[in-house]
Amino acid sequence: MKSTTPPQDASEEGTPVSVKIRERLALAHKRFYANDNIADFVQPGELELLLDEVELKMQGVLDSLVIDTAGDHNTGNTARRVAKMYLNEVFKGRYVQAPPITEFPNAEHLNELMIVGPITVRSACSHHFCPVIGKIWIGVMPNEHTNVIGLSKYARLAEWIMGRPQIQEEAVVQLADLIMEKTQPDGLAIVMEASHYCMAWRGVKDMDSKMINSVMRGVFLKDSTLRREFLALIPRKG
Ligand SMILES: [Zn+2]
Repeated sequence: MKSTTPPQDASEEGTPVSVKIRERLALAHKRFYANDNIADFVQPGELELLLDEVELKMQGVLDSLVIDTAGDHNTGNTARRVAKMYLNEVFKGRYVQAPPITEFPNAEHLNELMIVGPITVRSACSHHFCPVIGKIWIGVMPNEHTNVIGLSKYARLAEWIMGRPQIQEEAVVQLADLIMEKTQPDGLAIVMEASHYCMAWRGVKDMDSKMINSVMRGVFLKDSTLRREFLALIPRKG
């Protein structure tokens, strides 16, 4: 049965919301890789529509896996649950704006090495969408002009960056860029150590392998003594 009254916006009718968002991104020449944030291109209310769309596509995956989701009470609502998990939880960092961070002027003129961590981080690899779970340590070398942010804010920034399908090497660079931009320190060092479940659950099935990487900026690049001090102070393997 077709309605006799034409839809309000005939050209938009039936266009999946993901297509509309992609069109906006393309128009603005914005990259939308797995670990890019696209919040600026998602209009109010569209996340709900995206949820419905992902649920539908996820149901298609379950159908193609030949799982009787109509009969099987365990998987009856799995498509919806997975869609919610992706959009509202594990990949939320793609779809929402950065957490608000209040910056304070460095009134105490702190200029000593400050280390934050370990901060537990949770992500998923872009290659397999398998969990990546680990810890990061952040070393900040402030100067008198550096903005100071509360310790818990580093964890919130990390959560936002890690809440996307990621590649560990790129995740730490994104986090370093963000902290540099927000606080303008003389130097910044980040070390991340994580288990990649695509290597534990599948592939080589090695339960113990961890990947460690680091990024150094500013004085941490130039001053090897400072770099050694930071690396000596972070209690890894703890
Ligand atoms: Zn992987």
